Amino acid sequence: MSELELMLTGQTAQHIHWLSANIGIHHEMVAGFSKLQAEAKLAGIELTIASGFRSFERQLAIWQNKFSGQTPIKDASNQTVALEQLSIDEKIHAIMLFSALPGASRHHWGCDIDVYAKNLLPTGQSLALEPWEYQASGHFYPLTLWLAKHAQRFGFFLPYDKFRGGVAQEPWHLSYLPLSQHYQQAYSQALLAKTLANCDIQGKTQLMAILPELYQRYIVNIANT
Ligand SMILES: [Zn+2]
Repeated sequence: MSELELMLTGQTAQHIHWLSANIGIHHEMVAGFSKLQAEAKLAGIELTIASGFRSFERQLAIWQNKFSGQTPIKDASNQTVALEQLSIDEKIHAIMLFSALPGASRHHWGCDIDVYAKNLLPTGQSLALEPWEYQASGHFYPLTLWLAKHAQRFGFFLPYDKFRGGVAQEPWHLSYLPLSQHYQQAYSQALLAKTLANCDIQGKTQLMAILPELYQRYIVNIANT
């Protein structure tokens, strides 16, 4: 694989600038994110990254844990899905509502981040990264309104702004368009197929069989920019 292909599928962290031990972002996004963060601060919002770069290995571990039932799979109403009643296809779709296929997460790119407002999190409450926190009666609603008004000016957009039949709504997921538009164009179903063919992922045979459908429904099915 080329350097670009490795980067697109989370198999290198060469492009990552580490802000802390666990949080890394694309080095070409550091300045852009700092500007967004500074502007948010002026509006009383401490914009904080909950999750930045994620490697292929990490995404694979998330997948395997959900597929095997070690991590519960939730549905759109936050209820735990009963795995034993599902076909392999149904299980794959249930996982992909909230978790990307390894090799197909935009978090591999480093230019996509999950954010919240640290100062708006009520004392004693932990971050859930669930839509209710960001909706009208939730504590992060001021952040939602602020992002809707200002994010675009700084080059950011919300690829999962609403449910489109693929990935669930993710009001916390920001993408830095000056970088991600190039990566979106360079990414392909063929690259994903090649990546999955090389690894020991659970559900592999079925995944490969329905990959074109998964690609259309979950990977390229995002907000227009
Ligand atoms: Zn995300």
